[in-house]
Amino acid sequence: MIPSIKSKLPEVGTTIFTVMSVLAAEHKAINLGQGFPDYPMNEELIALVNKAMKDGYNQYTHMCGLPALRERIAEKIEGLYTTKINPDTEITITPGGTYAIYTALTAILNPGDEAIVFEPAYDSYIPNIEINGGVPVLIPLVYPDYKIDWDLVKKKISPKTKLIMLNTPHNPTGAVLSVDDIKQLQSIVKDTGIFILGDEVYEHLIFDGMKHESMLRYPDLYERSFVCFSFGKVYDCTGWKMGYCVAPAALMKEFRKVHQFNCFSCNTPVQYALTDFLKQKENYLQLGGFLQKKRDYFLNLMQQTRLKPLPSHGSYFQLYSYAGISEENEKDFAIRVTKEYGVAAIPTSVFYKNGEDNKVLRFCFSKNEATLEEAANRLMKL
Ligand code: GLN
Repeated sequence: MIPSIKSKLPEVGTTIFTVMSVLAAEHKAINLGQGFPDYPMNEELIALVNKAMKDGYNQYTHMCGLPALRERIAEKIEGLYTTKINPDTEITITPGGTYAIYTALTAILNPGDEAIVFEPAYDSYIPNIEINGGVPVLIPLVYPDYKIDWDLVKKKISPKTKLIMLNTPHNPTGAVLSVDDIKQLQSIVKDTGIFILGDEVYEHLIFDGMKHESMLRYPDLYERSFVCFSFGKVYDCTGWKMGYCVAPAALMKEFRKVHQFNCFSCNTPVQYALTDFLKQKENYLQLGGFLQKKRDYFLNLMQQTRLKPLPSHGSYFQLYSYAGISEENEKDFAIRVTKEYGVAAIPTSVFYKNGEDNKVLRFCFSKNEATLEEAANRLMKL
């Protein structure tokens, strides 16, 4: 008899990013679905990886990440957020931000623990919670600007609340936490044993003069946080799958127990290259301005279409409402637009456990101008 698996994730299908990217390729559509740049990454960084390989740095490196890279990251954090981080005990290099989030959740959650998740939520969060026996407690962000209703958060806190997940700048909406949000969060978690998971992979992709409110800026928040980052988003190399997690030593100790028996250590030559490249601060400091121009370019082109933009202040993403155009649900509409009009986008309903449908699609604008122009031309026909 062939054994069958009793699924730990019975409700989960294939991630929408894979579904839409495959559909886009099949129909030769412009892929504004999955979030990745279509322009080339920095040549100097590629050369540094080549050099590290040729110099013989091709074996396992330290389980927690190359020590020199962790030192550079600690310097970067101190420069940006003023907090002193111990690179030996508080930073672990990971194969990407999503892996860092999964590892942190696995370290924190015990069966029956509640995790507060704001929806729409990046699609890995809920399966990551559930596979660890946790219970997602869902709180809707308030449409259309996707702010947090903190009174509702207070109501949803229970003795079982183990964790609050926060993503800023936010995927898929581009919403950004404000100082006022931070104050509300501080007052809620004070005197509790609640952890925070900060998904800050878009830390530099922030627009309109806004400041990134990292959990790392606030000692009373950082002491209970795992904060996850992505080199892919910073250096236009999402396919490298490199990121890191920052957490206080006692928390990081548990994170590393999970990490060491999963991927153990990450790509060595890339870590050597990043150690050198991180010294050039302009590379990450100019990123917000660079992507804001892309957002504005896209917004401007899209004015010629009947789609209506919602506010986006960060990330790679811009939401558009098609409420005036079609009654179809988001998935059907996104699939039809890919097949018939040749532009792929992500239905935001997939970021809700119960599939809330506001007639909104997510478009990725980290693309060449020519790509954005062609996409807007096609969408004008809608
Ligand atoms: N983070 C990317 C996005 O939101 C996709 C990552 C993935 O494909 N898993 O589009």
